[in-house]
Formats: sequence, C-alpha cells, structure tokens
Amino acid sequence: MSNALGNHILVEFMGCDPHIMNDVSSIERDMVGAAQKAGATVINSTFHHFSPYGVSGVVVIQESHLAIHTWPEYGYAAVDLFTCGEMDAWISFDFLKECFGAKQYSAIEMKRGAIQLLTRNEFDITSMREKATEWRNPEMYTRNVWFTDKDEDQGLSLRFTGEVFYDVQSPFQRVRILESYKYGKMLTLDNMVMTTEVDEYHYHEMIAHPAMFTHGNVKNVLVIGGGDGGTIREILRHPGVEKVTMVEIDGEVIEACKQHLPNIASQFDNPKLNLIVDDGIAFVNNADPGTYDLVIVDGSDPVGPAEGLFSVSFYQNCHKALKEGGILVAQGESPKFNEKVFSELNFVLRGIFGAENAPVSLFFVPTYPTGMWSFQYGLKGAPSPKKVENHAEMDSFSEANGLRYYNSEIHMGTFATPNFVKELLK
Ligand code: SAM
Repeated sequence: MSNALGNHILVEFMGCDPHIMNDVSSIERDMVGAAQKAGATVINSTFHHFSPYGVSGVVVIQESHLAIHTWPEYGYAAVDLFTCGEMDAWISFDFLKECFGAKQYSAIEMKRGAIQLLTRNEFDITSMREKATEWRNPEMYTRNVWFTDKDEDQGLSLRFTGEVFYDVQSPFQRVRILESYKYGKMLTLDNMVMTTEVDEYHYHEMIAHPAMFTHGNVKNVLVIGGGDGGTIREILRHPGVEKVTMVEIDGEVIEACKQHLPNIASQFDNPKLNLIVDDGIAFVNNADPGTYDLVIVDGSDPVGPAEGLFSVSFYQNCHKALKEGGILVAQGESPKFNEKVFSELNFVLRGIFGAENAPVSLFFVPTYPTGMWSFQYGLKGAPSPKKVENHAEMDSFSEANGLRYYNSEIHMGTFATPNFVKELLK
C-alpha cells in the first residue's frame, strides 16, 4: 500500500525531432498510447496545436492524467505523468522517450499527497455516486484534438478526430487530410485550412459561377492552383465550356484530394481538362496573349509557392493572356483577416485593369479565419458583374445543378461592398 495518494514524474525530453514536437495528431496518439501501455483507462484527451508551432495537451485517465507542452523550436517537451493507484508511469515514460526520439532526458519522481500529512474528512462518499463509474468501453474515450489556423491575433479552431488520412511533406508544403467532427474531412496546407467536405461549395460555387454568368460565353478557361479540384468541377458544369487548362504546382495536393475528397476532386478525368503539374506563375508568363475567356487564380495564402500569385508581374501576365472581353477572378483573402494583402491586391488589379474594372465579391466560408472571404476581379473589357440581367438563367442553372450557395440574389449581393471595405480600398 503506497504511503502517498499519487505519484508524479516530471519529465524533460530534449533533442526530440522538431516535426514530431509540432504534430498534434501524433503527439495525441502517442500520449494516449503511453497511458494505455501502462494499463491506464483513458477518459478523454484534449490537445491543441498552436500556430505557428507548439502543442499542448492532456490525457485524462481514471488513474489521473498525463500532460505535455512542446517547444518544437528547441526539440523539447515538458511532460507530466501523474498517477494514483497501481499504475507504473515509468512504462509510459519509456514509451514516450521512444516515440519522441528524445536524445537527452531527465526525470524527477515525487510522491504527491503523503498520507501521514493528510487528515481524512468524514463526508458521505456514497451520496456523491452510487457506485464507481464503470467505463463500459475504455476504447471509447472523448478525443478533443484541436486544429488551429490563426495569425498572431485571431484564428479558427476545429475539433478533429485525430485521424490523419494523408500526411506528406511535398517540395512545396505539408499536405494533410484530417477529419473534423463538424466539417468532415479537410485539406490543410502548412496548417492552413484549404477546403472541407462540409463547406467547400461556398468557395467553389462563388469562384466560378458569378464570372461565368457575367461573361455569358466562356469557352477556354485557365485555372491556376485549385489542386483540390473544386473549381474545375464547378466550371465544367457549364456545357458551353470547351477546354479547361489547370496548372497546379503540387501533385501531392491532387493525389490527396482524389483519394480522400472524391466529391470535390470529381472531374480530374474529364476529357475537357488539360491538367499540368507545374508553377502557374511561369505558365502564365509564357502563355500566348489573348488566349483565355476566363482566368481563375485559386491559390493558397501568400506564403511559400503562392507568394508570387500576389505580384504585379503575375497579374500583368494574366491580363495579357486574357482575350478582349475576358475576366480574371483571384482568391482575394479577407478584408477582416489579412487586410493589407486584400487591399494591396485590389490596388494592383485596379492599376492593371482600370479603377472601375476590379470589383470585389464578398462571401462566407465558415472554416476560413473570420468566415468572411473575397474574390477579386479584373475585367478586360468585360461587362460589370453588377449589371448582368440573365437572373432567370442563373436560377435555373443553380436549380438544375443542385447548387447550395449560388443563385441570382447571391450574385447581385456578393458585389455589394460594406462601407468599411470601401474605406479599405480607397
Ligand atoms: N481555397 C484555398 C484558399 O483559399 O486558400 C485554395 C485552395 S487550392 C488547394 C490552392 C492551391 O494553389 C494549392 O493546391 C497550391 O499547391 C496551389 N499553388 C500555390 N502556389 C502555386 C503556384 N505558384 N502555381 C500553381 N499552383 C500553386
């Protein structure tokens, strides 16, 4: 019989692999595994991935808890193994040392709650609970693994199942398919949410249809990026389209989505598609002038491979590649999340297409930070999307294709600009 209520091992793991130290799903899996290895009954796990890096989490066990906080930049993890009862937490210690590849470590063991220093109160325990909770299925514990996409001041957190369906570090970015409880499977690139099964149509219907109905006779389309396939899916709903050239820099994104997001990546075998895995910036730079009716830039945020997708020269080349009467649509970031990029991009487009020819479409995507996002337009002699009249055609197309976001009211509303955005774009 132990002469203390609990046993606490304070562990310092050092020289660990920084990538492991920054991987919330493998750390959660290993911490739960460490508890189970020592025969503990896991009640729930709550883990949080901080952006830009670091993980914090706790596994609550019937025998108390295991907790961790990591500093990937130091290859360091501070771990607490607090147990009561017969459980031998050193088994968990050995397991985690292996999992984290710790090159150095130190551990202090201390008894917590020395019986001889405590006085037992005579309160009626039975009143609190008839009988000790019998965990009918110890496997079924509540997992609280949180994925957070944020900048320094605001962000979005999604509880995910901890399952990782795809995880590849490509030459350009880390490509992962995770599964969230509320929004289903989701594609993340370098810890930024790109698209989810449940709200992807908000983005993909709005990147395609307003421009298609504004132009009215699109035959040849160029899509830069769009590796998840949602944009080409929507474009190819329009029977008048003859050819779609898609230039995606990262083949791993296409592969991940084909395997795990088939409803989004449903048109990669379409005969009208000319799929090129290459840098879209170089492609547009070498494109023949006056080729496309519609150029869509479905790029990620202005970091890594996508940085150049926000440059003046890139949009000058897009303008050149458009036919007279052509339309450019670009993923425009958010007036509420990265205001600077949002307003600078519009300034560039007004400079190239003309002050009146760079309208902004605002719409909602629940899984993007702030939920408010934009597409920015460049009209090369095309009519204003605010002045289209074929509303009946839009609504019958929307109904016929079972669209869930786009219709004629949304088309008109999306180009309405709130005063704070007008201010931002002045
Ligand atoms: N909806 C997402 C968003 O708003 O951030 C964008 C989705 S889509 C997956 C973005 C794609 O752009 C990624 O697959 C990425 O690999 C691709 N991309 C980034 N830079 C690129 C470049 N220079 N040329 C072509 N594709 C690029």
